[in-house]
Formats: sequence, C-alpha cells, structure tokens
Amino acid sequence: MKIAVVGGGPAGVCAALRLVRGGATVELFEAEGRIGGRTRTEVMEGYRIDTGAQLFGTLYRRVLGVLADVGAGERMVRAPGRDALWRKGRAHEVVYGSPTSMLASGALPVALKLRLGAQYLPFLQRHGPSLDLDALERAADIGLDGESAAAWGARELGRDFVDLLVHPLLATLYGTGSEEASAGFYHALSKQGLTLQVLAMRGGAGGFCDAVAAAVERGGGVLHTGRAVHSASRADGGVEVSGDGWSGRFDAAVVAVPAPVALRVLGDALPRAAEWLGRVRVRPTATIALLLDRPVPGRFFGLSFPRGETRVVAAACAEENKGADVVPAGRGLLLVIPTPAAGEALLGASPEDALRAVLPELEGALPGLGRTVRDVRVYPWEHGWTLFYPGYLAHLRAARGGALEHEGPIALAGDYLYAPNVEGAVAAGLDAAERVLRRVTPADPS
Ligand SMILES: Cc1cc2nc3c(=O)[nH]c(=O)nc-3n(C[C@H](O)[C@H](O)[C@H](O)COP(=O)(O)OP(=O)(O)OC[C@H]3O[C@@H](n4cnc5c(N)ncnc54)[C@H](O)[C@@H]3O)c2cc1C
Repeated sequence: MKIAVVGGGPAGVCAALRLVRGGATVELFEAEGRIGGRTRTEVMEGYRIDTGAQLFGTLYRRVLGVLADVGAGERMVRAPGRDALWRKGRAHEVVYGSPTSMLASGALPVALKLRLGAQYLPFLQRHGPSLDLDALERAADIGLDGESAAAWGARELGRDFVDLLVHPLLATLYGTGSEEASAGFYHALSKQGLTLQVLAMRGGAGGFCDAVAAAVERGGGVLHTGRAVHSASRADGGVEVSGDGWSGRFDAAVVAVPAPVALRVLGDALPRAAEWLGRVRVRPTATIALLLDRPVPGRFFGLSFPRGETRVVAAACAEENKGADVVPAGRGLLLVIPTPAAGEALLGASPEDALRAVLPELEGALPGLGRTVRDVRVYPWEHGWTLFYPGYLAHLRAARGGALEHEGPIALAGDYLYAPNVEGAVAAGLDAAERVLRRVTPADPS
C-alpha cells in the first residue's frame, strides 16, 4: 500500500504516523521548506518563536497520546497558566477560557460575577454532555448553533459578559469575533475551560510536529519539503498526485491542507466533498514577534484586552513566561495576536509598519516597551483561523453523517473537521488515516 499525505501540519504528520504504523508505505508532501504548518517554531538569535500555535491543554488527549507513542511525552510540560485581562488600567490575573477563574479574579464587575455563578455555571453543568469539543455537532443538536456567541451572551447574561469573557477568549485563541462564532462553540470552550490545565512544549510548539515527523521517518516514511501539491485526482482506483514538473501514483491519499487549498487541489475529483468544503470559512491573519532586550514586566503569559479597549491588538504573549525555555536568559519575546478585524490588514505588512500598528496600544499596557525592541518579525497566515460560525456545527454533523464518505481512496483531514486547534487537527489526521486504511485493506474474514 502506497499512500500520499498532502500537508505537513499536525493533521498531516499524525495521519502519516498512523499510516506508517498500519504498515503503509508513506510519502508526505509539504509545500513549505519545513513541516509544522500553523504549529511551527522559528529559531532566531537564540529566540525560539512559536509563530502560530502557542499552548496545548491537559484535555488534548490525542496530542498527548501521539507524543507518548513517539517517545517525546516528557517534552510536554505544565505551563504556569497565568494570563491576564487588561481592564481599568491594570492587568488582572486569570486563566484564559476558565469561567471559574474569571469569577475569582478582580477583572469582572460584581454584578456580572453573580450572573455567572447563578446562571452560566449551572447552564454549562446542565448542557455538559452536549458541549464536547470532540463532537461539536452535539451542540447543534440541542439548538445552540443557530445564533452567535455575542447574540446569546447579550440576551442571556448582558453586554459585559460578551465584552469581558466572550470576546477576549474568541479573539485571542481563535481569531474570531464574538458575533461570528457559534454560541455552541463558545459554550464548549467554556466547559473545557472549567477543567483545562495549560501545557507547553519545551523548546517550542513546533517540536510536536518535528517529533512526530521524525517517528514517521524512523518508520520508513519519506518527507518531501518544499514540494507543493497542485492536484490529487482519482486514477484507476488509486490517486494521481502532482506538483510542478512531478507526479506520482498512489493507492490512496490523505489531503491535510486548509480547506480552501483542499478545494483547489481536489478540483472536481470529489464533487460532494467540494460542496461541503465550500462552506468552510477561514480568516487570514498575521502574528508579530517583538524580540526584546529584557523580559516583559509582569508574571503573566498572555495579556488580552476586552472588546472596545483596543483596535489592533487582541493579545500579547510574553513567551519567557510560558515555561517552555524558548527565550534566552535575561531577554524577552512578545508574540502579538491581532484582533479579528485587524489581522488581515497585517498580512503583507513590513516589520516597521507592523510595529507602528501595534506599539501604541501595547505601550498603553506596557509603558516603555518600544525602547526594548531589538528586532521585529511578521508571520503571515493566509489560512490563519478556521471560523466556527453559527450553523457550522450542523455542517460538521453533515460530515459525520456521511457527506464525505464517498471519498473513495482520498480522505480529508484538517482542524476544520473537528475543532480549530492542534487537538482538532490531530483528531482529524488520525481519523482520516483510519478511514484510508479501512478502505484499502481488505476486511479480515476472521
Ligand atoms: C496565530 C495562531 C495561534 C494559534 N494558537 C493555537 C494554540 O495556542 N493552541 C492550539 O491548539 N491551536 C492554536 N492554533 C491553531 C493551530 O495552529 C491549528 O489548528 C493547526 O495547526 C491546524 O493543523 P492542520 O494540520 O489542520 O493545518 P496546518 O497547520 O495549516 O498545516 C497544513 C500544512 O499544509 C501545507 N500545505 C498547504 N498547501 C499545500 C500544498 N498545496 N501542498 C503541500 N502542502 C501544503 C502547509 O504549508 C501546512 O504545513 C493557532 C493558530 C494560529 C494561526
């Protein structure tokens, strides 16, 4: 069995690992010069810059399972889990996404805390079984997917709930405005936040894909980097995969690239899948790394801002406080996450323009920051965030219900099939590999 994997992000490398373990001969094609996708660490002057994904969680059971499987489990460490919300001129310590930590913090008005305790926590408790990031379609089944998190929040708990809880979480961790995210998606994140503990990968988040890719190679798989795939089409019961001036014939393929790229690569090979993929929405964005002469003042990792407080900066991550050994001693590294509205405009920005755009807002919270900046890097993400908009959870139900089941020898993978984070991507990659193995392996009569 010869199987191609297209894309070397978390979904692609995990699919490749499962396929190698299942006895297949695997070739992985990655367009960029290195694997990792949006979970990639760049090294510069001793700074290890997590350009996209920052943190993992104790509930990422597949990520943790894969890491243990490849013998790199000890590289995942408990992060201090201290974040902060900027409000009324100061940083209030919280744990992102945890309604209980918000309740305990000084960041919220007392009246909102009372509403959280009396209404929201019991709501999460009541709907707990249907609020599952592994099966987000269940939230659609109980009617929580028809409106946005902003509409639900403003009606049920008030505007301050949206500004102080919903917006910072969605804008910071998912690049999504509260009015464009499904309420069910937000509630599932909040429920996860009740028990989640934050983890970081020692040496940088990209170490996850690197460790998995190394295991794929040890298992006999071949990784081609700098090799973009232009098309994957059905041919004689198998799949023809081709790029600029090359092509190869495989028994099957896992296509693990962002949905808009999958649409292009598949052309008209899978008309029903194309219809499904056409309803996936992504938002381009950029992250901006400020390499600093000294650490950021304060103990927090992520400093996020309520809605309306800033126009350009959703959050700034003090990487030296992540607990992952990514910043040289005595130095600082601030990774800036733009607001959903500002991210796209920064996509093609020069480092100078990006710094000019973010510095005034950052200096409002971190006075004198500009004097400590020694270098600036901009990382553009054309397919940055997958949006789980109102109606998307029902769309996922269609995928689970068989909308993609006519794929034949081609299986799709990517965070857009589960949840827009590394765990969702890994779940989709492992799942796609299983489907392909089932399809091309004759059933065992015993
Ligand atoms: C700024 C930012 C911060 C984030 N923070 C977190 C976080 O803290 N925690 C978390 O869990 N998640 C986070 N995420 C989300 C996480 O990064 C993604 O969910 C995850 O990387 C998706 O994995 P994937 O394999 O589906 O896609 P990707 O990571 O996008 O990988 C797809 C791969 O396909 C390659 N490719 C594209 N086109 C082709 C082609 N034609 N041929 C061959 N290869 C191709 C790409 O180069 C890429 O390597 C963040 C994302 C962003 C943008």
